[in-house]
Amino acid sequence: MSELPPLRDVIRRHGLSASKALGQNFLFDHQLLARIAKVPGDLAEAEVFEVGPGPGGLTRALLEGGARVAAVERDRRCIPALAELSDHFPDKLRVIEGDALEVDAPALFDGKPHIVANLPYNVGTALLVRWLSAEWRPWWKSLTLMFQKEVAERIVAAPDTESYGRLAVLAQWRSTPRIAMTVHRSAFTPPPKVMSAVVHIVPTETPAGVRLSVLEGITGAAFGQRRKMLRQSLKGVPGALAAMETQGIESSRRAETLSVDEFVALARVLSA
Ligand code: SAM
Repeated sequence: MSELPPLRDVIRRHGLSASKALGQNFLFDHQLLARIAKVPGDLAEAEVFEVGPGPGGLTRALLEGGARVAAVERDRRCIPALAELSDHFPDKLRVIEGDALEVDAPALFDGKPHIVANLPYNVGTALLVRWLSAEWRPWWKSLTLMFQKEVAERIVAAPDTESYGRLAVLAQWRSTPRIAMTVHRSAFTPPPKVMSAVVHIVPTETPAGVRLSVLEGITGAAFGQRRKMLRQSLKGVPGALAAMETQGIESSRRAETLSVDEFVALARVLSA
């Protein structure tokens, strides 16, 4: 197989100047890309859904790891560059031009894919919430996602910390998130203002008898007024004060002191 051209050449040849509007910050470091592609585990013959491949740096690393990739990219300028990559890895890469927020991703796969993405902040968070809100166990095997470091910290946050909130509960009540690596801003072209981190999330069993909409109602109300005591912040959630009593949760506590298990216990009572 012929050598792939350096990514910087691909960018130049296809005129892929980074677009701010599309949140484009590209990665070129082969070793770093290979490390990110290893985060989901052994990819030999595994299916991967990549969102936002751009010029295809991470896509290459995933293909070199043996994965079969379906990639959704919104920027049509990147499609010819990705088509070249597809020629280089016959039958291994499908490129879909479109908006990841609109594509019916589960329909692209027979089995369960790993999801891998380096996305702009707003799109990444919207997709994460959607993927975590899927029917459980979900249609994906794992998530390997680049975020601003501050968002990554909110996903893995423990109680009694500033970062702990709705996102932590959503990410932790039926999956295990961890920060797999931090990535210095200088690794990107152009460099963003803040540091980044790769989060790896693996789904676990969903706790029995708990409805997600109820859990979200509680965390939304509790963290919506995170400085207030729960007896105040949960006043508008029917049955919440009685549920706290049956679960032995003091109503003078504040949202950030409750463990994920305690939120789940309250949601279970209110889901009944
Ligand atoms: N994966 C490449 C890398 O690591 O170098 C590019 C990363 S760049 C931060 C984000 C990519 O996501 C861009 O190529 C951008 O065009 C694409 N993108 C942004 N919003 C998107 C969306 N809604 N759907 C699909 N792709 C999107």
